[in-house]
Amino acid sequence: MAEQHTYTQNIAIKDGKLFLRRCVNTGIPVNYFHQRCPCCWDNKFESFVSNGMGKIISLVTYHRTYKDSIPSPYDVAVVRLFEGLEVIVRVDQNSRKHVLMGSSVFVEVADEGLLLVHLVE
Ligand SMILES: [Zn+2]
Repeated sequence: MAEQHTYTQNIAIKDGKLFLRRCVNTGIPVNYFHQRCPCCWDNKFESFVSNGMGKIISLVTYHRTYKDSIPSPYDVAVVRLFEGLEVIVRVDQNSRKHVLMGSSVFVEVADEGLLLVHLVE
């Protein structure tokens, strides 16, 4: 049976910062669950801090509350970071009426390690 990974394994959160991983040889971003670089097949990686900037490529509204601290309705987006990887994030309540597909956003680490997206004006 194939090993299963969650989407959040694209990232690491440490000290309130969002870390991504890239190949030492080619510099391309590589998901944490990949054991080898898909470009050069090497297995040497380094972590770096994301600048958090990206664009929304998918957006959905949740109408069910899964966590008391995050009451529904709330929006969840897939953001393609400018560094090349994609992350799933919750949209900040103040931004949710303004974000659209393709909106430029800033992804930050919020309380409980959740990722939150804000619209960039
Ligand atoms: Zn490589």
